[in-house]
Formats: sequence, C-alpha cells, structure tokens
Amino acid sequence: MSDYIVLDLEWNQALKGRELKDMPFEIIEIGAVRLDENKNETDSFDMLIHPREYKTMHYLNAKIVNITTQELADKPDFKTVYREFIKWLGKSRDYIFCTWGDMDLTELQRNIRHFKCRELSDGPIRFLDIQKLYAIHKGDVKVRTSLETAVDELGLKQKYPFHRAINDVRYTADVFKRIADPALEKKVSYNLFHTPKDKESEIYAYFDTYSKYVSRSFKGKTALHGRPEVWCTDCYICKKKTVKKIDWFTSNNGKTYLSLAECPEHGLLRSVVRIKKAEIKGIYAIRITHSASEEDIEQMMEKYNKVKNDQKSNLSNSE
Ligand SMILES: [Zn+2]
Repeated sequence: MSDYIVLDLEWNQALKGRELKDMPFEIIEIGAVRLDENKNETDSFDMLIHPREYKTMHYLNAKIVNITTQELADKPDFKTVYREFIKWLGKSRDYIFCTWGDMDLTELQRNIRHFKCRELSDGPIRFLDIQKLYAIHKGDVKVRTSLETAVDELGLKQKYPFHRAINDVRYTADVFKRIADPALEKKVSYNLFHTPKDKESEIYAYFDTYSKYVSRSFKGKTALHGRPEVWCTDCYICKKKTVKKIDWFTSNNGKTYLSLAECPEHGLLRSVVRIKKAEIKGIYAIRITHSASEEDIEQMMEKYNKVKNDQKSNLSNSE
C-alpha cells in the first residue's frame, strides 16, 4: 500500500529585473505530511529556508506568506533542508505526491537543479493534483479554485492561517480526504520537468474517457515528426488500429496537430498532439485521444477547410 505525501512550498521571487532564468522562484519553506491509505496523517515535515539568491523578501511574497527577511536569516540553506526532506521521504517504501495545482513539483525541481542537489527523479513524476481532483469532483474540470475557496465550499474547519506551507498541506489533505474516492484517485497527473528518458519509458496512460501519451525529448521537429509512435491514432478503448478520416494537420504553425480516426467498434476519435519545449533540453509531444462529439467534428472540419483554403490561395499567389 502506498502512502500519500502531500507537499506544499512557499517561495520568494526576485525584485524587479533580477530574475534568474533557471529559477524564477526560490523556495523558503517545504511543508509536507504523510497520509496512510485512509488519508490519516502519520507524519509531518516543515522547515524554513534561508534564501541565497533572492535574499530580500519581495513585498508580494512577504505579504502573502507573512514571513520577513529577518525571520529567515538564521535558517538553514536549501541544500540542507532538501537533504532532510529526502531523508524524511525515505521512510516511505512507496508513495505518491499530492499537491494543490501543478506548480510545486516543477519549482522544487528547479531549485534542486539550481543548487546542484541530487535529482528527485530522472523521469516524469506521477502525482495527484488535488486542485484538479476537486474540479472534477465539482463537475467542472476547467474551473480551478483556490485552496481557501475549496475549504470554504466544503465547510471544513479553518484551524490555522493559509499560505504557510505546512498549514496549506493540512488543508489540502483535508480536502483530499473529504472528496476522495477510488475513481477520482485514478486521475493521476504527470510532472514533466524531466521528460521520459527513452522510448521504453514513454507514458501511455488510459483513463475512462481519454488516453494520454507523452513522448521522450527530441532534438528538433524533424526528429519528432519522423517518429510513428507520436502520430499513432489507435483507439483509446480497445487499443486497436483505426481508420484515418482526417490525417494530421496543423492550423497554428505546428504548435498543435489534429486528426480524426474511426474505430470500427467505438466510432470517431479525435486526437490532438501538442508540441512542447522541454524544461531541460529539446522538444516533446503530448497526445490526447478521446471520442469525437458532433461539435468536435464540426470545429475540426472548420479548421481543416481553412488550412486547405489558405494553402490553395498561397499556391495561386506564388504562381
Ligand atoms: Zn476501439
């Protein structure tokens, strides 16, 4: 049985114009709790960090987090705190991270890299985005609410102030416990600070209404475009080959690609490939496939026809 590690960070940012490219936010607090399978807290971790890059608390962060520059002056540095955190994590044989939103694991790994600590992982990290699960629970995947709003809406006890890592972690855990059901917990997310390191470790995730594929990184577009696994349109339900109805095309200069295919058993499927810049090196692709609604087909046809018309007029202009 795996533990849940609910994680939250507080960070400081650069004063105007001093931002480091590889680390826009410097972590000043790591808070975490460990939950057992019933979502009961079994252990906790909370440490403040003396920032080394953005030494003066930005007024925005100071106001939100309510920590002053002076309070952090005698605290250990990131390296020391992170080492303690890894030690603490090590007490779990098996765990999955839970965070409110998708930023914390990225910012943590940016700090780890900046301060040259041992990487948390060399590939994508599976985690539960409790903010996303709460949106699904409420029935509107597209609306993300703040932790405070969620706590309020669920009528949970407000025991301590928000915006301190360890407090926010406990509120996140409270929300998780309240909304958790096994179906919801299957909706895992992937932090892609590190993309899959090779073909074998690429992500193929199947959910009840769609599938998701994440490629490894490629040097450039030519390499990525040449890989058949990126452009596969197999059915996400039965995993069998489909018949292409509209082949891959782009209407935004290669940022995203769309296709329509048909599974003899499960009908029309819409696939979208998004090309993304990797955090560390190269580019990679995320492909989502789901059943195509009438509206999906209509929208796709509209885009497709526009692309075809533009191509025609470009051709006649160059003649
Ligand atoms: Zn099928």
